[in-house]
Amino acid sequence: MDFSHYSDAPVQIAVDLTNTLNAITHEDELATPADVASFLETHDEGEWCRPGWKAAESDLHEVRALRARLREVFEAEDVAGASEAINTILADVVAVPRLSIHAGADPHLHFEPQEGAPARWLGAVTAMGLSVALIEGGFDRFGTCNSMTCDDVFVDTSRNRSRRHCSDTCTTRENVAAYRARQRADG
Ligand SMILES: [Zn+2]
Ligand SMILES: [Zn+2]
Repeated sequence: MDFSHYSDAPVQIAVDLTNTLNAITHEDELATPADVASFLETHDEGEWCRPGWKAAESDLHEVRALRARLREVFEAEDVAGASEAINTILADVVAVPRLSIHAGADPHLHFEPQEGAPARWLGAVTAMGLSVALIEGGFDRFGTCNSMTCDDVFVDTSRNRSRRHCSDTCTTRENVAAYRARQRADG
């Protein structure tokens, strides 16, 4: 069965949602229900997002709880721990398979509800995305940034699985720091 349409946008939504909380400074991009609504809107991928949903105070709490669960997936000890964390999300949001033929597409399965709370929708989409990433790429592609000053999560899609940082910004900063350290050692 082909679940590959859960590969790209849903994985990015999972990573971006997890990284809305800076694990080191505790700076939180989801401070109000309006921030949840704007997260949904900026992650509008057509069939994936439902912009226009109004987030309430309870949604803010639910989405933050989901975010903590998502981080558990990335910080799990092994594939069993990650699978358990993903399964907990799928069970919590009651992800139910549904045949979809949206936009004239061939019939395929979706697991997120068409209406209801944002956290339930986000939970189904992100947990399905991470499931597919785990099945197709393996757990060793899941990581947290190796920088001393950043703990953001990522899914490594590089061919040789060499990624150590969440972003090019962190890679560049760490390379510069390492270069300066070498220069000091030489000088
Ligand atoms: Zn679809
Ligand atoms: Zn980083």
